[in-house]
Amino acid sequence: SMMVAFGLGALTDLWADFMRAAGAAERVFELIDRQPAIPASVGERLASVQGRVEFQQVRFAYPTRPDVPVLQSIDLKLDPGEVVAIVGPSGAGKSTIAGLLARMYDPQGGRVVLDGRELGSLDPEWLRQQIGTVAQEPMLFATSISDNIRYGRMDATDAEVEAAARAANAHEFISRFPEGYRTMVGERGVQLSGGQKQRIAIARAVLKNPRLLVLDEATSALDAESEHLVQEALDRLMKGRSTIIIAHRLSTVIGADRVLVLEGGKVVQSGNHAALMGQEGLYRRLVERQFVAA
Ligand code: ATP
Repeated sequence: SMMVAFGLGALTDLWADFMRAAGAAERVFELIDRQPAIPASVGERLASVQGRVEFQQVRFAYPTRPDVPVLQSIDLKLDPGEVVAIVGPSGAGKSTIAGLLARMYDPQGGRVVLDGRELGSLDPEWLRQQIGTVAQEPMLFATSISDNIRYGRMDATDAEVEAAARAANAHEFISRFPEGYRTMVGERGVQLSGGQKQRIAIARAVLKNPRLLVLDEATSALDAESEHLVQEALDRLMKGRSTIIIAHRLSTVIGADRVLVLEGGKVVQSGNHAALMGQEGLYRRLVERQFVAA
């Protein structure tokens, strides 16, 4: 899907950055979908966030294809600190749900609500500061590892950057580079593995310390050691934060408080793993066919 091609997580973080750069937000929106921007810095900023999220009968079509319904009467509830896993076939609308939470777009029907406030009444720039993201293939900037992590919170000290890297199981591999945290990444620097990039993105999210997380789990297998380190770091990151995770691994759906099974823009099943395994349906078929190999 287009959203995934841009990398939802990277995009959300990029957005926050563009928002900080004065006036850039409108241009980015125009670039992406050639629609008028949702204006930045208009709307409320809540003094604190509990992390209660609700989608109520949400209906959505992309502005470029208004006649194609992408989400239809979506209900979703996330209590503070809960983990909801979204599963479903390609094109089901998983990333779109995540995009609506970050208020990339407003729904055509129904409401998306954070702590009792409709997202439409909240300042989108502020909202995106409350959401941490880890994409399948996180996009790093062609700068130092340290600055890539600091991106989560620009005023963080070196000690805070290192603490975040440790929490993300990234400190060790970073320290092995001769230049450590000053190592440049990207075209003119070191090439990082998928698992290493993910751990940098996790460190960034740790530093950001948001109440909400949107995670897009990697579909491609990481090597076993990296896999374990990423998983451990994610578990640590998710603790106490409301998390929506686009899930591709069986261990994730088993651990989630609720699983939302999406097909063709509709929730066809929801419940925890055990309950869903006790029913005929798409979930059991997905688990049997798709997750077993993961
Ligand atoms: P995947 O598992 O392949 O990432 P998904 O479940 O995340 O899929 P979405 O990316 O949410 O699905 O896409 C849902 C539908 O919306 C698809 O039909 C897709 O083609 C369409 N779509 C996604 N992004 C856009 C966009 N920016 N403009 C128009 N249509 C889009």
